[in-house]
Amino acid sequence: MSVSARSSRGRLDAVVVGGGVVGIACALGMADAGLDVALVEAAQPPAWSSEHPDLRVYAFAPDNAALLDALKVWSDVTRQRVQPYRRMRVWDAAGGAALEFDADELARSQLGWIVEHGLLVDCLWRQLERRGVVVRCPARVTGLEQDASGVRITLDDGATLDARIAIAADGGQSALRELAGIATDDRDYDQLGLVAYLRSEQPHAGAAFQRFLPGGPLALLPCTNGRSSIVWSLPVDEARRLLEIDASAFNHELTRASDACLGALVLDSARAAFPLRRKLAQAQRAGRVLLMGDAAHVVHPLAGQGVNLGLRDVSAWLRSVRDAKAKGRDFDASSRLQRWARERRSDNTVSTLAFEAINRAYSNDQPITTLLRGHALELAGRMPMLRHALWRHAAGL
Ligand SMILES: Cc1cc2nc3c(=O)[nH]c(=O)nc-3n(C[C@H](O)[C@H](O)[C@H](O)COP(=O)(O)OP(=O)(O)OC[C@H]3O[C@@H](n4cnc5c(N)ncnc54)[C@H](O)[C@@H]3O)c2cc1C
Repeated sequence: MSVSARSSRGRLDAVVVGGGVVGIACALGMADAGLDVALVEAAQPPAWSSEHPDLRVYAFAPDNAALLDALKVWSDVTRQRVQPYRRMRVWDAAGGAALEFDADELARSQLGWIVEHGLLVDCLWRQLERRGVVVRCPARVTGLEQDASGVRITLDDGATLDARIAIAADGGQSALRELAGIATDDRDYDQLGLVAYLRSEQPHAGAAFQRFLPGGPLALLPCTNGRSSIVWSLPVDEARRLLEIDASAFNHELTRASDACLGALVLDSARAAFPLRRKLAQAQRAGRVLLMGDAAHVVHPLAGQGVNLGLRDVSAWLRSVRDAKAKGRDFDASSRLQRWARERRSDNTVSTLAFEAINRAYSNDQPITTLLRGHALELAGRMPMLRHALWRHAAGL
């Protein structure tokens, strides 16, 4: 059957389990390519409101902005609230030169955008029914059967959905990944990621900062209205202490940890923290089930690539679907599913382990490691071609 043909006997082309950024983007992209798609989500996402900024923010890469633009969602997001960032400075608290990225030098209008998770989900979610995706929410997947031609998904209300393929985009604790029998390689980093908004004495002027400290990196991301957002990776006990101390003591420690790169910093929201761990699926495919986003790879937030890697799974899959359609072939041919899974797992494994190695190298104060990493940053900083290549990789270009 060609990709443009509608499914027979009421069977769907694809069921996406998980309505986070990754799952919804994938469902919309497949629907736009002419597939019959259903999306199963455990809980209706709350409507985003400008008065209640989401503490979870992403440094969104240009290739993924282009994906949301192709899905006709990016203009809704930018109309409401995004902050472009034009400069980024990365440096080591132990000394040595900083690595700097500048949009002008790279001939770009911006390096990327800082976007709230809740705003992205809200804008994507509103498009689902308009674009013909069948939404089952609230519903959880509880069962999976599959054979050579399709899958049957059972939901917690007893209903079943038959489809040619299933996409597991149900996050780090993915139930569908487990039902498909895919194991994960896990590592607990013994760190928490502390997130909050703050105001700074000096304007951020669209600059992002990342300072490597012995306990883990501190990232300051520029936001609208002169605020910045932090993602501060810390050993668990230290993070708990910083969550509990009063605001003025926290402001003092945060300003010191930032090396006062924006002058004095003042907390401007609640503080929250989430556990940092690696979870890498041993395969991104089992038969007709494909794993995308956090269901396939939970990574350290130091490179700001969590959601970016997940959306690259989606882009690669949509390219494959469109290619099948253009050639009049089956979008779900086993060789096609396998090629996608192999390519994405290779990219995701390299990225996950690279972030982990950087975190390990910078989260210690052994003299040799300190010396080596200082030289590495300095060398990269002195080589414009290398800097350009590093940025292009992070930007997905
Ligand atoms: C608290 C927190 C803070 C974070 N902060 C950052 C950050 O600052 N920067 C960064 O880059 N990354 C951050 N991350 C990681 C980032 O949020 C993820 O990489 C990204 O959300 C992955 O998107 P996803 O769509 O794959 O998964 P998710 O966003 O986890 O979405 C999964 C969806 O599946 C649904 N679901 C789960 N189980 C089922 C089921 N059985 N049946 C049906 N539906 C189900 C869930 O309700 C959810 O909507 C953070 C993560 C957390 C948890």
